[in-house]
Amino acid sequence: MKKGEFMYEGKAKKIFKTDDPSLVIVEFKDDATAFDGVKKDKLADKGILNNRLSSIFFEYLENQGIETHYEKTLSEREMLVKALNIIPVEVIVRNIAAGSLSKRLGIPEGTVMKSTVIEFSLKDDALHDPMINHYHIYAMELATAAEMEQIEKAALRINELLVPYLKGKGLVLVDFKLEFGRHDGMILLGDEISPDTCRFWDSSSGEKLDKDRFRRDMGGVVEAYREVLRRLEGGGSAGVES
Ligand code: UDP
Repeated sequence: MKKGEFMYEGKAKKIFKTDDPSLVIVEFKDDATAFDGVKKDKLADKGILNNRLSSIFFEYLENQGIETHYEKTLSEREMLVKALNIIPVEVIVRNIAAGSLSKRLGIPEGTVMKSTVIEFSLKDDALHDPMINHYHIYAMELATAAEMEQIEKAALRINELLVPYLKGKGLVLVDFKLEFGRHDGMILLGDEISPDTCRFWDSSSGEKLDKDRFRRDMGGVVEAYREVLRRLEGGGSAGVES
């Protein structure tokens, strides 16, 4: 697959055309950002780890019947995916209170939610990704009711699949963010699934193995991502030095 013209650069990835208009190449960068890009750094190898981790998650989900944009891994940092018309709604799924939910609702971090929580945010950095609901989504024509039904069903199913999968690797799936897009009349899971977009806690120690280590200046960010990869590739659990 020939890497074509550069199309777009996001905070953590670059997108390139290919010779097939229905496919694009995602290149994972080492850039780390938080708080709408206010906090920035380069973390050596993060892009390589996130490409590998996302590939593992997408392959697992595809094998379980979830439709994703994933085609194949091309290189250390590159993934071939179906070109999506991205729906500008971030879908957040939460099993345990953390981050903005804890802050907003005063629920202490670590509180197990009695049932799964789904939230939506408008994908707009300039507006700081404000939380929205179905009324906004329909009134702003971001997605149709039929599309939202599919998206929510897929998000809940993905959670149902990932929680036990990660539990088997000694990881608690606290929360995560998904993005969906349109391709050939279908709704596909897009973007990435990685420690940049999920919260993973070690099952026994509760240690954070995700981007919160960067957001909260805890150190050992790349080491934590590497540990998640080691576990997904079949290794046992081990701590991370911070
Ligand atoms: N998340 C993300 N991108 C965003 C906002 C959130 O990937 O723009 C992920 C985040 O990593 C976490 C989950 O979605 O796994 C819930 O994030 P939260 O709303 O708590 O955001 P915070 O403000 O703490 O980043």
